[in-house]
Amino acid sequence: MTKKIKETMENNFSASKSRMIREQLRARGIVDEAVIQAFRDTPRHLFVPRGYDNQAYADRPLPIGDGQTISQPYIVALMSEMLELNGDDRVLEIGTGSGFQTAILARIADEVFTVERNAGLQAGAKSAISSLGIDNVHYSVHDGTVGWERYSPYTKILGTGGVPQVPEGFVDQLAEPGLIVIPVGSKRQQRLYKVRRSGEEVTYNEGAYCSFVPLVGKEGW
Ligand code: SAH
Repeated sequence: MTKKIKETMENNFSASKSRMIREQLRARGIVDEAVIQAFRDTPRHLFVPRGYDNQAYADRPLPIGDGQTISQPYIVALMSEMLELNGDDRVLEIGTGSGFQTAILARIADEVFTVERNAGLQAGAKSAISSLGIDNVHYSVHDGTVGWERYSPYTKILGTGGVPQVPEGFVDQLAEPGLIVIPVGSKRQQRLYKVRRSGEEVTYNEGAYCSFVPLVGKEGW
């Protein structure tokens, strides 16, 4: 590829990214500036399969192989905002997938621990994330519906696939105070749950309706 073509492509990606932030995130009410900045700093076209890069900034999920998807940009932003992220957070993410959400989390939080059941997907995610110089992510391939006991407690836990109910282990591995965001419901439709632990109290809030691929495992489907 000539330098000129490469430059034109990068300019197109950059324009698509600005439009995505304006029309899909801000226009729908995303206000967390840290989340917006993380989206600005993270080239989404590096996280979609070859042949899909012209749709990388489109308002929809895209296939990433093995029947899985990279979530729609708005959903990634919404979940990130719901997590109330800050620079002190230790975040556990279940379902690395493409790694795009992982990169967004890593740009804001102190450390990210990400779990994926599909080794091939996680290898791809890891190389995309490393290529951006992001080095505060820890990776594991196992059934994440049981969490990741070893590095617990986590201040935030994010599930990027649906579950029939919030896995008990997530609450056990949550710091106090701490917050879990995860889609809970049937295989077809879920609601974005926000589970807050403060003191001895655990409160459950049901948010927007959504449709995620399932988390498959002991405490999932
Ligand atoms: N945030 C990701 C979403 C990926 S979809 C992205 O935007 O790319 C959900 C992911 O969860 C899939 O990659 C799937 O393989 C993974 N998954 C399903 N069940 C799992 C389990 N029990 N433990 C860990 N990962 C799981």
